[in-house]
Amino acid sequence: MEADVFCKIIAGDIPTEFVYRDDDVAVFADINPKAPVHLLIVPVRHYTGIADFSETDGKLLGHMLRIAHTIADERGLHEGYRLIINEGAHGNKIVPHLHIHLLGGKNLGPKIVAE
Ligand code: AMP
Repeated sequence: MEADVFCKIIAGDIPTEFVYRDDDVAVFADINPKAPVHLLIVPVRHYTGIADFSETDGKLLGHMLRIAHTIADERGLHEGYRLIINEGAHGNKIVPHLHIHLLGGKNLGPKIVAE
């Protein structure tokens, strides 16, 4: 199976500036930002999606949320931000590697679904 684009980024095969990186999680800017701040919080280990995530992975998810909040704080998103996980065809997920979008830097409005 060919590595997905986020596995390639994490492996260093696609040069990318990391906002944050540890053994378990990488954070980098979305290439097509939808808000002044649009970062992707990505587990280093490949999970195709939420279906791959087990109860024992809860610690990793908590770690990802802590990192999201810390980075949001560092970026001055004190008025708030939005975290999104797209899943499957109806969720319009494009990259088959679990990731959380961190969006902020403006009022994102009340709509969280396309009409
Ligand atoms: P989705 O799978 O729909 O949750 O979104 C995948 C996101 O990955 C999109 O917002 C893309 O703009 C973003 N993306 C795709 N390729 C890259 C890349 N090489 N570097 C950074 N972001 C990317």
